[in-house]
Amino acid sequence: MKEVQEFLKVYQKEMNWEISNENYEEAKTSLLHNYMLLTTEVSEIAEEIRSIINETRISHPEDIEFAFKEAKDKHKENIGNEIADCFAYLIKFANYFEIDLEESFYSKMKEVQLRKNKDV
Ligand SMILES: [Mg+2]
Repeated sequence: MKEVQEFLKVYQKEMNWEISNENYEEAKTSLLHNYMLLTTEVSEIAEEIRSIINETRISHPEDIEFAFKEAKDKHKENIGNEIADCFAYLIKFANYFEIDLEESFYSKMKEVQLRKNKDV
C-alpha cells in the first residue's frame, strides 16, 4: 500500500491534481471539490451495477444465471475502472492527511472484528 500511496503522490504532482494546501480557504475548496469528485466516482460504480441488473433481466430471461454472468463479464472492466477512480481519490485524501493507509486499514478491520455489536 505504501508503494501505491507513493506512486499516486508523484502521479498527482505531475498531473497537477494535488489537494491544495496553500491556506485554509484554498484547502477547504480543494477538499470539497475532491470529495465531490469521489462521490461522482462512487455513483459511477452504482451505474455499472444498475446496468448489470437491468441487462440480466432483459437479455436472457429464460436463463437468469447465464444472463447475470454475461452481464458481469461485460461490465467487469468498467467496474474495475470506476473502483480504481474511487481508490485514487481515497488515496489522495490519505496522502493529504499524511495517513498510512495500510496501518489504518488493518487497525480499522481489527476494531470491527472485536466489536460486540457488528451492525453499529
Ligand atoms: Mg470514473
